[in-house]
Amino acid sequence: MLDWDSLYGEAGAKAIAGGKKRFYDNRVGDMATARENGKHRVTAVVKGDREYRTEILFDEQGGLYDYQCDCAADKAADGPCRHIVATALAYENKFPAESVRTDAETALRSDTGVRTLIDRYGKLRRGRKLAEEGDKVKLVPVMEMGASGRLTLKFTIGIKKQYVLKDVADFVSCMTTGARKRYGVELTVTHVLESFDVASAALVYFVCG
Ligand SMILES: [Zn+2]
Repeated sequence: MLDWDSLYGEAGAKAIAGGKKRFYDNRVGDMATARENGKHRVTAVVKGDREYRTEILFDEQGGLYDYQCDCAADKAADGPCRHIVATALAYENKFPAESVRTDAETALRSDTGVRTLIDRYGKLRRGRKLAEEGDKVKLVPVMEMGASGRLTLKFTIGIKKQYVLKDVADFVSCMTTGARKRYGVELTVTHVLESFDVASAALVYFVCG
């Protein structure tokens, strides 16, 4: 596992916001990964006024080692620039924790799968500073212990107020067609990934397989 949390943690609010925008606008391309002397290297090109080349390096244990971009902001700032944040988000979106990418049904039935999903959500949530999100929809996993001692997973969906997602299969179906659906007085959702905040989008991607 690569430590993206540290990278987001070092990024300033502007870099996070700018990175998200570039990620959502699909401006990250030419993503490549390589091993070099045991280190894990991620490179990409982020489109803007010109093409910015980014590089993020992780050490043998997956710890954040270094990052760089050829933009002017990268030279001036201490933390990662928006292009590096965009690269990180695009990478995580492209390779969402390979270890938990089993099919959703299996994961929902397995206690381990549920825990993994919750852990993963927590990681994304912290790392991506969701508090800064605007009006994006949040999909939140809720783990409950049943009378039999078995874990079950439910979801809530919402912007300001969370509603219980009663029919997950219907939600998945809506995501397939991009349907618009009303969940309550304060919530109507267009079912496309862009409607969701970053952590929720990753979860939606996971749930929908
Ligand atoms: Zn940059």
